[in-house]
Amino acid sequence: MTSSSERIEIQGLSRSFSGRAVVSDVSLQVAAGQVMCLLGPSGCGKSTTLRMIAGVETPDQGRILIDGQPVFDAGVNLPPEARGVGLMFQDFALFPHLTVAGNVAFGLVGDKATKLRRVEELLEKVGLSGFGSKHPHELSGGEQQRVALIRALAPKPRVMLMDEPFSGLDNRLRDGIRDATLEVLKAEGAAVLLVTHEPEEAMRMADEIALMRGGQIVQRGAPYNIYNAPVDRAAAAFFSDIN
Ligand code: ADP
Ligand code: MG
Repeated sequence: MTSSSERIEIQGLSRSFSGRAVVSDVSLQVAAGQVMCLLGPSGCGKSTTLRMIAGVETPDQGRILIDGQPVFDAGVNLPPEARGVGLMFQDFALFPHLTVAGNVAFGLVGDKATKLRRVEELLEKVGLSGFGSKHPHELSGGEQQRVALIRALAPKPRVMLMDEPFSGLDNRLRDGIRDATLEVLKAEGAAVLLVTHEPEEAMRMADEIALMRGGQIVQRGAPYNIYNAPVDRAAAAFFSDIN
């Protein structure tokens, strides 16, 4: 039960490895149509947080609700496939035996013509029209990554969890791919939690930023506010290399 309209809600999430706390009492909410960036330096616990929400890592403590339903709570621990979330992770992998179109259509339901239209529309958004009949081994790494991105977008998930999905992309392509991804997610009104260690990416993509350090959220707010009024010197220094 929840009284709010949040699509993602986590409360007091904690996780230790070998006695070392890597996520400590993290709470946050993401509403429909909102992009929340979990931003912080490498090793601060961002991926562990996201992995717990996805269901591939088990919290020591806390609650996780998706669409108001507990997916992790006392006596509840739904497996990833039952949580109703879309995932875009860094280490994407395509099915090697399927074509590009087959990969993108994999999670889709409906008749063949509808699926093909959706696949074509998405390929076009990331500059890969005409690639549908190729196999993954015929594509460059960056092209494969773009296919993996749109494969995650294709089923129109209501909740999308993204862990640095743009980090390996060529500078020349990255802005366009980010914009195309946001356009698709916003059109569907998805709630998006995007993990990044790049302030510039968070400034560009977030409606709200949760700044993380040492396993804790140290500041939350609109990008402009965090950038202009960082909570402390460390936060200011972290933002200082944006130009
Ligand atoms: P981030 O994504 O912010 O870079 P992570 O959540 O991946 O940080 O990792 C936070 C800390 O937890 C790191 O020090 C990492 O080495 C450690 N860690 C993550 N997963 C495990 C694991 N399965 N076993 C042991 N330590 C881990
Ligand atoms: Mg990480």
